[in-house]
Amino acid sequence: MVTPALFERYPTPAALAAARQEEVEEIIKSTGFFRNKAKSLIAMATALVDLHGGGVPEDMDALVKLPGVGRKTANVVLGNVFGRNEGIVVDTHVGRLSRRLGLATDDDPVKVESTLMPLFPQAQWTMLAHLLIEHGRQICDAKKPRCGDCVLADICPSAEV
Ligand code: SF4
Repeated sequence: MVTPALFERYPTPAALAAARQEEVEEIIKSTGFFRNKAKSLIAMATALVDLHGGGVPEDMDALVKLPGVGRKTANVVLGNVFGRNEGIVVDTHVGRLSRRLGLATDDDPVKVESTLMPLFPQAQWTMLAHLLIEHGRQICDAKKPRCGDCVLADICPSAEV
C-alpha cells in the first residue's frame, strides 16, 4: 500500500539513494519498524547504484548482500521479478502452514525452506509460496484456523474438524 507513493517520490534507485531518511519514514510509517526500514531502503538503493549500476542483481548471493535483504526478500525478487525458482519464500504464513501440515518442524525460516525444497518440484516453488500465503490469510489463520472450510483437512495432521 505504501509503494505507489514511495515509487512516485523516488522513481529510481538513484533518487532513493539521495533521499532524506525522515521523508522516507513519513511515506512508509504505516508499515511498522519504519525507521529501520527507511534506513535499509536508502542503504539498499545506495548499494544498487554503487555496486550494480542502478539495477537489481539477478542472483541470490548478490541480493542477500544488499542492506535489509535476506533470503525471503531475495526469493520474492528472484521468483516474481526474474522468474527464477532458486528457493522458496518462507514468511510467517509459509512457516506456520508447513508446521501445521507436518511438512516441517523447525521455527527457523531458512531451515523450513531447506526442508520444503526437496518436497516440491522446483518449477513450482514460487507458486507454492503464493498458495500457502493465500491459504494462511484466507483459511489457516494463525489464531483461528477454519479447518471446517479447509480443502486440506483430510490430510492435515493439525485439522480440528
Ligand atoms: S486443516 Fe486446519 S490446521 Fe490444517 S491446513 Fe487446514 S485450516 Fe490449517
